[in-house]
Amino acid sequence: MRKCLRCGTQENITKDHVVSRVALRLALGSEDYSRFCAKVRKLNVQDACGPCNNEKGDRSIDLRTDSRPERLREALIDFGLDPEEIFSSYEEVFGGTQQEMNNVNRL
Ligand SMILES: [Zn+2]
Repeated sequence: MRKCLRCGTQENITKDHVVSRVALRLALGSEDYSRFCAKVRKLNVQDACGPCNNEKGDRSIDLRTDSRPERLREALIDFGLDPEEIFSSYEEVFGGTQQEMNNVNRL
């Protein structure tokens, strides 16, 4: 069952782009943007509900806790980008802490 990686709901699940397409296009230019998308494909999407996706907006945050965040970071570095400049912290995007989010996800 798919659920929102932030709030845990199973309602209104969307495919959220971990690194926003706007940020990627700006950072890479359109040619490299296309190459990057072809390379990472599903690696750059995560499940988030509509409201959480909206709240995130164009900011980039990885809510996943498996091996994909690391692989996405490596892909960014391969394209000459600095993940530290790309990603926002959980607190910047949603307020609160990621620990609180993880507690919600365990329910
Ligand atoms: Zn949510």
